[in-house]
Amino acid sequence: MKWEVVIGLETHAQLSTTSKIFSGASTAFGAKPNTQACAVDIALPGVLPVLNKGAVERAIRFGLAVGAKINRRSIFARKNYFYPDLPKGYQISQYETPIVEGGSLTILVNGEEKTVRLTRAHLEEDAGKSLHEDFQGATGIDLNRAGTPLLEIVTEPDMRSAAEAVAYAKALHRLIVEDIEICDGNMQEGSFRCDANVSIRPTGSDKFGTRREIKNLNSFAFLQQAIEFERNWQIETLENGGSIQQATVLFDPDTGETRTMRTKEDAHDYRYFPDPDLLPLEVTEEFIDQIKASKPKSLEEQRQEMIALGLEGTANQITSSRAMSTFALPIFAKFDQVEDRKVLANWILGPLSAKLNEENLDISQSKVTGHQLIKMYEHVKSGAISASTSTNVLLAAMWAGEYGGDPDAIIAAKGLKQISDTNTIEKIVDEVLAANAQQVADYKAGKEKAFNSLVGQVMKATKGKANPQQVNDILKRKLAG
Ligand code: ADP
Ligand code: MG
Repeated sequence: MKWEVVIGLETHAQLSTTSKIFSGASTAFGAKPNTQACAVDIALPGVLPVLNKGAVERAIRFGLAVGAKINRRSIFARKNYFYPDLPKGYQISQYETPIVEGGSLTILVNGEEKTVRLTRAHLEEDAGKSLHEDFQGATGIDLNRAGTPLLEIVTEPDMRSAAEAVAYAKALHRLIVEDIEICDGNMQEGSFRCDANVSIRPTGSDKFGTRREIKNLNSFAFLQQAIEFERNWQIETLENGGSIQQATVLFDPDTGETRTMRTKEDAHDYRYFPDPDLLPLEVTEEFIDQIKASKPKSLEEQRQEMIALGLEGTANQITSSRAMSTFALPIFAKFDQVEDRKVLANWILGPLSAKLNEENLDISQSKVTGHQLIKMYEHVKSGAISASTSTNVLLAAMWAGEYGGDPDAIIAAKGLKQISDTNTIEKIVDEVLAANAQQVADYKAGKEKAFNSLVGQVMKATKGKANPQQVNDILKRKLAG
């Protein structure tokens, strides 16, 4: 029997606000235990939570980036459970009506695009931390992390391999850290952690199997290992006649194995109800518009823009970093023709990137500007200089800052102008034909290669400056005659 693995991810991303979601205490990492826990965080009687607008703003920014619905009215709910690091006895979260609903993220696995649907993203507070190491026979509680703002991002069970789950987690990480900058993404410090829900089913079946949820995976490698171990364990269990029970499990990085922590509680065990201390969260159209207006374009949006400009061949590479796309996209926008944009894209990825690599520079430190590249291309297009002269000689001179890096000055001073004068080229062609009787005979006998060799001779005689199209035309005409 063949098995298919089914995966849904829940990701907790810490939002990059400087204060907590319901109090004014600092969220900075690494302070001494309990020095950043105020009366609200330690749940003294009579205190009231006050919602942090920055956390709401970041959640909406996320929703807009994944094409989700932003609920104008969402509700904070109490998720009740007892744990020593949760002094209130409940976590404030969102349950029935989260702030963000739906949306999707596109991932690339083995060169193939796949869309992972998002179920929801909701705001909630983090709990504190239990410290087991430093206290003989006792556990210490650090409430610095209590009340830290989190966005929990939940996917549909759309992934079908550990590789897809990792690709999704990486795409999500890049989106929230680099594109929309709502999370610092530090996985060691717990700013980005994933729970993986894993089940298996016979390949071809359209019914889902029972899932087990692996908690708190804080590296991409652990995510991969944990899913693979869990998948194999479930297959073995079923093939040995056993059954899978819904459960919450832990991954042990030392053994690479998962083990059951508790059989899974259901939502009703948490006695969710709307938090009477917090009004429903209402966001105005105006607030959403403000966020839209202040939003940098995501790399995915830029990739789509490039595809729309006819640059599907280079879109992935150009939008692989913000620095590269920031440099390149304004250049493409200057040209109406796809062919022109393609040449520029290839120049950026080819000769310009080679220069950058030689000196180990990032494209934001390029010594040739986008404006210079555009001017260089205009000279090629007008026929003033040849394409090979431009990328070999002119680019190097601009890079070195010769003549102030001004392409016009460099072309004039170095005599780089292409020879487009028909009489001059004809004269040189005649000389080359006279000196290469054997190749002329070869060509006339049907050897196509001989033609290229003759073109090469003419180019050599003109130091590469003859207009190649004209050389071709004139040679063809003379050889036919
Ligand atoms: P809970 O909050 O109790 O963990 P949810 O209904 O919110 O439960 O689902 C959590 C995650 O489990 C979602 O990401 C969902 O896609 C995933 N999931 C649901 N059913 C399955 C399944 N059979 N196999 C794998 N993942 C699943
Ligand atoms: Mg869960």
